[in-house]
Amino acid sequence: MRATPSGRRRPISSEERETVRFSVLASGSGGNAVYLESGQTQLLIDGGLSGRELARRLACLGVEPASLNGILVTHEHRDHILGIGVFARRFSLPVYMHPATQVAAGPLLGQLPAVVPFQTSRVFAVGDVQVTPFPVPHDAVNPVGFTFCANGSKLGLATDMGYVPLGVRERLKGSHTLILESNHDLTMLQEGPYAWPLKQRILSRRGHLSNDTTRSLLEALMHSDLDRVVLAHLSEVNNQQGLALEAAREVLARSGRPIRLVTARQDEAGALMAVREKRGFAKPSGV
Ligand SMILES: [Zn+2]
Ligand SMILES: [Zn+2]
Repeated sequence: MRATPSGRRRPISSEERETVRFSVLASGSGGNAVYLESGQTQLLIDGGLSGRELARRLACLGVEPASLNGILVTHEHRDHILGIGVFARRFSLPVYMHPATQVAAGPLLGQLPAVVPFQTSRVFAVGDVQVTPFPVPHDAVNPVGFTFCANGSKLGLATDMGYVPLGVRERLKGSHTLILESNHDLTMLQEGPYAWPLKQRILSRRGHLSNDTTRSLLEALMHSDLDRVVLAHLSEVNNQQGLALEAAREVLARSGRPIRLVTARQDEAGALMAVREKRGFAKPSGV
């Protein structure tokens, strides 16, 4: 159940129940988290901010942490799990993750109230949301992306990967909304201030996606029901919002239809948005 910003619970309308919505609460190397809701099901995906900050950003959306069904974890890097331990204990939330991730993340997570293990590529349900974790190439023990299907809507989420294997593309196909990494501009990274070993790590096949690679991925994922693209995990040092948007916009414009395009923010939660737009919406705000 959603709460008003003042904390009062209110009933959910039938339209709200049918609409699957999400918000990128934070995105980037300073912390990542996504909120997803479908009817009575409310999920947090990753929690790379402090527990307090996660609660604050959810409150901006009128979401009470205690009403979440659980927290799903992509991989054990600090920018994805920092606040999960505190948050899960405080609000008694189960944490869904791969057993190898649990081992690797253990020291930072501490004791958790409940862990629900999942297997990569095996579909599971949380409430009325069908979740499919799929493998992504990244320097973590068992990194995954997710697709979420509910009520005829599909959200594909893939960040933190060095390149795009065919399997990732296949999993993301048919998504109405895509949250995709667009980490760096190649030239900015190559000419930027990072030490060479770090540049190599980011550029490697287990690193992060460049704007150019994301553009190619988008090209492959375009379809007539793609409604929204969120570019995520942008580097503050090696990228600029305008460059990431420009690369993606060029591809999306070819569709000849309005596909909304935004970048996810590090410093504040994005608006709560529908995963799938109702047909016949007025005018595009992005492309
Ligand atoms: Zn990350
Ligand atoms: Zn990572």
